[in-house]
Amino acid sequence: MATYRELLQQVKSEVDEIDSAQARERIESAEPPLLVDVRERDEWVEGFLPGAVHVPRGFLESRIEQVAPDRSRDIVLYCAGGSRSAFAAKSLRDLGYERVASLAGGFTDWKRNGFPIDLPRVLDEDKRRRYSRHVLIPEVGEEGQLKLLDTRILLIGAGGLGSPASLYLAAAGVGKLGIVDDDRVDDSNLQRQIVHSTQELGELKAESAKRTIQALNPDVEVVPYIERLSSENIDRILADGWDLILDGTDNFPTRYLVNDAAVWHGLPLVYGSIYRFEGHVSVFDARRGPCYRCLHPEPPPPELAPSCSEGGVLGVLPGIVGSLQANEALKLALGIGEPLIGRLLTLDAATTEFYEVRVSKRADCPVCGESPTITEYVDYVQFCAGRPAHA
Ligand SMILES: [Zn+2]
Repeated sequence: MATYRELLQQVKSEVDEIDSAQARERIESAEPPLLVDVRERDEWVEGFLPGAVHVPRGFLESRIEQVAPDRSRDIVLYCAGGSRSAFAAKSLRDLGYERVASLAGGFTDWKRNGFPIDLPRVLDEDKRRRYSRHVLIPEVGEEGQLKLLDTRILLIGAGGLGSPASLYLAAAGVGKLGIVDDDRVDDSNLQRQIVHSTQELGELKAESAKRTIQALNPDVEVVPYIERLSSENIDRILADGWDLILDGTDNFPTRYLVNDAAVWHGLPLVYGSIYRFEGHVSVFDARRGPCYRCLHPEPPPPELAPSCSEGGVLGVLPGIVGSLQANEALKLALGIGEPLIGRLLTLDAATTEFYEVRVSKRADCPVCGESPTITEYVDYVQFCAGRPAHA
């Protein structure tokens, strides 16, 4: 029976080892090797070799194909002192990797030589706890959570759709939320607009939503825009820098304005709409699929348009549709899953049925088509009786 020391000697004699100076030379060459750090997370967070990928030793065999699908690729493995990486190199050789070396002396020797190291961006302990259920999902993980914290989403409207959407996006840790709304909280809103409460009656919705969101998650920066979105202010608001737009206003003038702006600014638009028991959700991104005008090139004449909130809505329906919009926004931010691009999802809350229709990009679309006929914002007339209502 071999002792650990004997086994280590045996393994080291079987694998290729390089020292720090050789490793540095190869890293700085025209064809650098793939550097794999096999240490534990608490070691990685203290610093790593520039360009290295982190695959803890315990996951090496199961994850190496993801980071190095090509078995003929040059790989340099390192740990703290060169022992774990020697065993790891042997394992990779057994898996068919042809050009694997272990860094003798490991990270400790690299650092002792005064060679450069990088510090990783990681979630602090509080954030790791708060977002632990995200970090546990392989498709999200710590990296995805950091991405969400860097994401900036502009919400149009803090009403029925904007309420659940803003709450879930804030809870998920989306770092910056803009809220465009010039309306005040009215008691007839509270049947569905759950970001506001009875104490906030009469307050500006954007301010009321900001307070609720910041009580829920202080990691989120909220930028209120106390104004009605129009052709006059939309470019200024978008110039503040947003990754995507979530339209929660559910009225025609805003819908067309936001669609055209999204096409011209190259931003994805998460669309939601509700009427009585029926909800619609889609993602319009003219770079990858249709825009809203590919579906409906022009607004219907006023006499045919549904009368917005005047038609009434089951209070939970905007909750479902707004949550589906938040789901689309999170997937787009993370770059995971299949967003509703080119698909219009319809749900009937009365029968609890969901169905989907395909929406194609139209070559003759007046905004995103081959020869656009609409090249400036159009301020359509608000169709609802009385003042425009936010969903
Ligand atoms: Zn279009």
